This record gives sequence, C-alpha cells and structure tokens, in this order.
Amino acid sequence: MTIRHQVVLRVGFADIMLKFYALLLGCILFCPTVVTAEYENCRLAIDIGHDRQAAGARSARGKPEWDFNVQLATLLYNAALSNHMQAILINPNGSKVQLLDRPRIAQEAKATLLVSIHHDSAQPQYLLPWEWKGTSHLYSDRFRGYGLFVSGKNVYLDESIQVASDMADGLLRNGHHPSLHHAEPIRGENRPLLDPLRGIYQFDDLVVLKNAEMPAVLLEAGIIINREQELEVSDPDFQHKVVDVIITAAKWHCQRLDSR
Ligand SMILES: [Zn+2]
Repeated sequence: MTIRHQVVLRVGFADIMLKFYALLLGCILFCPTVVTAEYENCRLAIDIGHDRQAAGARSARGKPEWDFNVQLATLLYNAALSNHMQAILINPNGSKVQLLDRPRIAQEAKATLLVSIHHDSAQPQYLLPWEWKGTSHLYSDRFRGYGLFVSGKNVYLDESIQVASDMADGLLRNGHHPSLHHAEPIRGENRPLLDPLRGIYQFDDLVVLKNAEMPAVLLEAGIIINREQELEVSDPDFQHKVVDVIITAAKWHCQRLDSR
C-alpha cells in the first residue's frame, strides 16, 4: 500500500469515527427516550411531595423535606427513562402546585401509575432540641424506616396495594424496615395498617392518592427527623436502592397492564 493510500485510509477512518462520535454525542443530548414495546402501554407519574415554599417536614439538621423529595424523585425519573419507560416528573422546579392539580397533571399525561415521593417526620411531642453546627434544631431518634400509603378511595385500590406490596418486598429484601409509628393510637396518627409486615397504611383522604384516576402510592422513604436516618437517606447508595425498588415495582405494574 502506498503512503498516499494509507493517509487516505486513515483520514477516511478518522472521518467515520468523528461522525460516529458526533452522532453518539448528539443522541445522548437530543435523542428522544426509546420506549421499548414492553413498556409502551404504561407511564409513570412521579409526584415530588410539597414545593419549595411549603416544603413539608424539616430534617434533624434543618433541611426542608422538599430538598430530599426532589433529589430522590429526579433520580427515579432518570432511572425510568434509562429503563426505557415513559415517565413524567410533576413540578420539578418546586413552584406552587395544588394537591388536586397533581393527579390532574398525571391524568393529562396519561399516566398509568402515580408514585408520590415524601420523607417522614414524627409528632411534635417526640421532638427534642439539639445543636448542630452551632444552630438549634429539633430531632427524634425514636422512629426510623419507610412507610407506604394507599387510599381506599382510589378507584384502583387493588393495583395500588399490589404496587405498594411489590415496593415493600423490594425494600425489605434490601434490608430496610417499615416504621409503624403512623398506626400509634394517638392524635394525628391512628392510621390503619393494611399490611403491618410490609408497612402499608390505608389513608383514604390523602388528596393526591384519592383523586388519582390511576393506581397511586405514596412513599415515605425514611424519617428525616431521625439524625441517623437523615444521613442514611442522603446516601446515594440508599437512594439508588430505593429507586431500583420503585422501578422494579413499576415494571411489574406495566406487565400486569399488558396481560389484562
Ligand atoms: Zn411530605
């Protein structure tokens, strides 16, 4: 082969590789999500609990619940897309969105499953003062663990319970445990436990769940007023494990939809 031919071949190869990488980069940045046939009939709506202003509970170190919720919900959304599932994230910028509007947004997006992401606290009588980084905060190390809620007023109660059960089973397999403190017979709690082993509560009047026109589950991923668990739920390894569990439960939901 002559030198000239080698140069032409090298330029040709480099040119092809350049075009390939340009195409790959363009695809990473702009390609629409590829939805596999397996999941084309289902769509996951992810509700980020609360908003920036009315941010929900406060952690033992003074961080608003919304910060935890948006982080976990965004990870979940990205995981859904990379698993070739259709998904929408409700209110990612944290503006004021009424509770009733959240299931409506899910319905308009033709979601087949709604998962609302929250982090938990405890009743005021259990809170104690402590100092962290020179600032006073409230904490309670009395409870730790996840909680799952469904509404008996949701039209798809059976499927909501099935999804919650699948999520609970995944969490239990990962070594997580439910917190049953919402069932305590005291003011503000007293929630009926549908499944104590799995930590599934029935809370009929949760607005987002009862108004959803699709199966709906609310997850309290952990108790952020607990000093240790605040650190645990902030750990990326914990977050990814929770996300994997929800994705798996959502996939089973998709398969049940297909087999109907
Ligand atoms: Zn909340």
